[in-house]
Amino acid sequence: MSKTPLTRAELDEMVAGLNKLAHNIWWTWDQEAQEIFQELSPRGWQNLYHNAVAVLHEVSDYELRVRLQDDDFAHRVRCVLKSFDAYLNDKETWTQRHAPSLLKNPVAYFSAEFGFHETLPIAAGGLGILAGDHAKSASDLGLGFTGISLFYREGYFQQAVNQDNWQTEYYTLLNPRNLPIEPVLNEKGEPLVCSVEITMTEVYFQAWRVNVGRNPVYLLDTNRPENAQHFRDLTLRVYGGDSTTRIMQEVLLGVGGIRLLRALGVQPSVFHMNEGHAAFLTLELVREKMGRGKGFEDALAATKQECIFTTHTPVEAGHDRFNPELMDYALHKFGTLLKVPFEEILGLGRVNPKNASEPFCMTVLALKASRAANGVSELHGQVSRHMWQSLYPGLTIDQVPIGHITNGIHLLGWMKGPVRRFWRRKLTSGDAENCTEAASGDTTRFWQKNPNTSWDKDINSPDFWKKMMDPAFISDEEIWALRYRLRRELIEFARRRLLLQQGARHAQMDFIAYDQLLNPDALTIGFARRFATYKRAPLIFQQLENIVRLTRDKNRPVQFIFAGKAHPRDDDGKRYIQHIIHLSKYSDMQGHLVFIENYDVHVARQMVSGCDIWLNNPRRPLEASGTSGMKAGCHGCLNLSILDGWWREGYD
Ligand SMILES: *Cc1c(COP(=O)(O)O)cnc(C)c1O
Repeated sequence: MSKTPLTRAELDEMVAGLNKLAHNIWWTWDQEAQEIFQELSPRGWQNLYHNAVAVLHEVSDYELRVRLQDDDFAHRVRCVLKSFDAYLNDKETWTQRHAPSLLKNPVAYFSAEFGFHETLPIAAGGLGILAGDHAKSASDLGLGFTGISLFYREGYFQQAVNQDNWQTEYYTLLNPRNLPIEPVLNEKGEPLVCSVEITMTEVYFQAWRVNVGRNPVYLLDTNRPENAQHFRDLTLRVYGGDSTTRIMQEVLLGVGGIRLLRALGVQPSVFHMNEGHAAFLTLELVREKMGRGKGFEDALAATKQECIFTTHTPVEAGHDRFNPELMDYALHKFGTLLKVPFEEILGLGRVNPKNASEPFCMTVLALKASRAANGVSELHGQVSRHMWQSLYPGLTIDQVPIGHITNGIHLLGWMKGPVRRFWRRKLTSGDAENCTEAASGDTTRFWQKNPNTSWDKDINSPDFWKKMMDPAFISDEEIWALRYRLRRELIEFARRRLLLQQGARHAQMDFIAYDQLLNPDALTIGFARRFATYKRAPLIFQQLENIVRLTRDKNRPVQFIFAGKAHPRDDDGKRYIQHIIHLSKYSDMQGHLVFIENYDVHVARQMVSGCDIWLNNPRRPLEASGTSGMKAGCHGCLNLSILDGWWREGYD
């Protein structure tokens, strides 16, 4: 008996549903959604770097409709769309129960970078990844959250390594049409355009919306025909250019971000500055209040009640400081709107407001204009109280009003597919498992059948993790099988990437050799993060002979995989990279150490899941928190780390 084909209306609905899904990065933390796009074009999925929007453009509308006539595929598409819908409309969220007031008035979260996924490379490191993870977690909790950042059309740099094993940087232009973002439009359907005063100029900007589950994150973009070219390029690159570019980007982020929120009619309950980069937002809030008749002091006091601040690093270079001339240049026109002597403004960024030679520090402004501030781990809280005590004369270090909130990760976003399935299986009976794993037939998710079980909520509960200790719940053999699978995935990934890396430099390629690179049976030690020198990437190789001996152990060999980018102007960091690549090619470590180029979220995901040991040896206490070790932990990878940052609290 032949089945009835889908009607045109049914097809229209599913095509529209898939388009909506692709433009909501919820798919980046839903395994089945990703599999739909991957199945549509397996090669495209790989080549387009796991980009659902680009895959939908790769497949013609006709092909998509034809493919949906496949019963099994259509069924799985329906399942995913249904659970996407259920997610968006879930009324029983954490926020409904615990903080309903935050539904109407969201948290406005300002961050110069957001790391969501490899398709949208607008983060430089952990700070941005954290912001992205916060946005996703806020959505999962049902928390009102509106993010503000910039749209860097060349993103963060891509890393290549030249013949001297020296890091070089290159940039690729992002095409908004092919990204999971949407233009923000006005009621006429045209781009919504706002403006902000930068130097003496009115600079115009539009915005792109990233749909992060239930919540928007807006990315400001000055690439508008109204602007002179140098202002169009203001949002070209993450932290691009010199301190002039940087301060102008920060004016855009802070002041422009508030203007956009107002234009959209968003009424935040609180303004959260993720690092000092966004601190100029406080000046715009002051300006607004003064425009409504408040005096400067009152306006500042009222602004302070609306703002909170997270500081992210004890490393000096991580705190933006601008000299008074640069401040005057960048804020010239905006400063005249403030109707207070500019010295008064400069004082807000100084420990000693009267000291005319003290540069303006964004962290100081953020601290002075917030009602609460926090570091990102217990130890970092302590360190920050020391660091900024001089701002609070008369207070002891313990009284300095900087607390701490230890960073976290968005678990579902980081957990690799096989591991999610592993935990999910653990939470369900055998029957339910068939629904998700079966090649065909009923693929309804078990928790839709059993509304009382929600594995993705349970996985956030401490009770669930306590069960891990129970051998009846989980056996060593199961864990070991999973570890083996993840390690193999990493090693095969590394082989592919190394072949490509070599291929880029040499015409002669030896495919076979690359298929034998690394040992799937060896204990694999990983290190991947920014190559800031305080993280001391090459430290473990200081006693090279001992390490070499360990790699050769007959019964228990070890091997190393490294990855990471140095800041473009950090030659010391680049020397670390050079040293490690050198060891991997010309020392006795050859064959037991590889360096994977162009570290990003995708490389990170492979490494934190596939390594057995996650190595972290920063110079204490400079690692304010660190998060990559958490990503490793949830894959059963062990942390080998200094008691710094989050690990000082998490180690036991
Ligand atoms: C998690 C992550 C980081 C942060 O790692 P740390 O341990 O804090 O150094 C940086 N970059 C990427 C791409 C990440 O995924």
